[in-house]
Amino acid sequence: MIQSSPFGALDVPRRSFADHALACAGDGDRAALIDGTSGRTLSFAELERSVRSVAAALAERGLRKGEVFAICLPNLPEYGIALLAALSLGAIVAPVNPLLAPGELVHQLADAGARYLLTLPRLLEPARETLRECGLNAIVVLGEAEGATPWAELLAHEATAAATAIDPDIDVALLPCSSGTTGLPKGVMLTHRNLVANAQQFMRWPLDMAQGTVAIGAPPMFHSFGVSLYFGALLPRGVTVITLQRFELELFLRLIERHRAGYAAIVQPIARALAEDALVERYDLSSLRRITSGSAPLGEALSLALERRLGVQVFESYGMTELCGASHAQRPGDPKSSVGVALAGIEWQAVDPDTGRALNVREQGEIRVRGPNVMKGYLNRPQDSSLEAPGWLRTGDLGYADEQGRLYITGRLKELIKVSGYQVAPEELEALLRLHPEVCEACVVGRPDGAGGEAPVAYVVRKGPVEAQTLAALVAARLAPYKRLAAVFFVDALPRSHTGKVLRSALAARKKDRPEP
Ligand code: AMP
Repeated sequence: MIQSSPFGALDVPRRSFADHALACAGDGDRAALIDGTSGRTLSFAELERSVRSVAAALAERGLRKGEVFAICLPNLPEYGIALLAALSLGAIVAPVNPLLAPGELVHQLADAGARYLLTLPRLLEPARETLRECGLNAIVVLGEAEGATPWAELLAHEATAAATAIDPDIDVALLPCSSGTTGLPKGVMLTHRNLVANAQQFMRWPLDMAQGTVAIGAPPMFHSFGVSLYFGALLPRGVTVITLQRFELELFLRLIERHRAGYAAIVQPIARALAEDALVERYDLSSLRRITSGSAPLGEALSLALERRLGVQVFESYGMTELCGASHAQRPGDPKSSVGVALAGIEWQAVDPDTGRALNVREQGEIRVRGPNVMKGYLNRPQDSSLEAPGWLRTGDLGYADEQGRLYITGRLKELIKVSGYQVAPEELEALLRLHPEVCEACVVGRPDGAGGEAPVAYVVRKGPVEAQTLAALVAARLAPYKRLAAVFFVDALPRSHTGKVLRSALAARKKDRPEP
């Protein structure tokens, strides 16, 4: 049974994402973006001016429509300038997680075919040698570094770039990374129309955010959710966005108090800190009206605890990188055990994963989503089976609908592990573990981490003597910190189905395993 959105259909304006994001530039001197750490503020007028300067400077340095401009930065006001400048030229922005290890960064840049990179000197240095393999046209840094163009030089540019014709339906705007329902991380092609649609969908979500509201956000800008939220839904509404380079509870609380923030976008570990940490009592958070949480399950108990403690409304959203961020969100009154209803213009259904049969209300199956925010496809992987005709995206998540069309997520069919909202693809860790000469086979699964989240653990069949710490250290040395193994278990054989497929669910369900001392 196909469920449709109670918010109705969506008429997506035909414009580029940069034009959409800068729609509020007329707000002049009011703050658009505030860097939470330094307090540095960029007004709406400065944002618009800076986007124009940087676009002209990048065009002069050869950035052309369809070329890939990678941004590897934490959340900063400059992120917005660079993103919108590159997009206004018709370039494709590949956002890169700044926590990635140098090898992972280079892999993503090579896969995306990036020609330009914007980063920080401290992130550039460890990757400098390996970056030579990528054939980049230019590297820009916030600050100064040998062989790189200083950002200040771009900002100082005075001319205006010639207008570029952008077809929002076809032209790709953003190329974030996701492992989707299978395998290793790959580039997700999101068009300008996808992003403008998701921004409009956010705007129809009843969060009552008037012009002048101050918002503080934890979702990273390297995730499509962050891009849709900050630049698609908040700035064009005249909302001031406080950016956070990384989450620190005390700073977060201080910023809410100082700027009288009315809205906070968070992820599950922050919800836990806000619901439980004693520090919260020391700050005046009375301005806060609404909190939204996405990227991973929040849970009914935590959501209610947060509402009680802070006297706010808490709404959970659900989505994927492949959906530009969110497809479902709770409204006031929706059960906290659900993730709410489909946003405007979205249809969805639960489908029997084996037969493809559409299921009825309260029957659990794989969730499939159709709508204007569904990605164009994966870069260079036309054979990927995530997109099905006519336009349905397989989410790899299990769930069901209730009689009011609300979605309940009950589990995951795909192998993905979510650590603090970040994606961990088991295949990436398994491939690395298999490189060790004493490892015969490896399977990585997610385990509850005791705080309501997940952590990756490995089951390994050994060929010869190797210690658990050695394998954990191998992963820690080569991959981003959030991909670290919480435990390594040695087994004689991996459980397999009669067709030889490793039974990951059987391993994930083994709660009693203890790591070797
Ligand atoms: P990402 O592409 O990194 O946003 O990851 C998307 C995946 O995160 C989804 O397919 C789900 O498995 C999970 N996810 C996101 N939001 C929620 C939620 N509210 N509840 C449960 N799982 C979620």
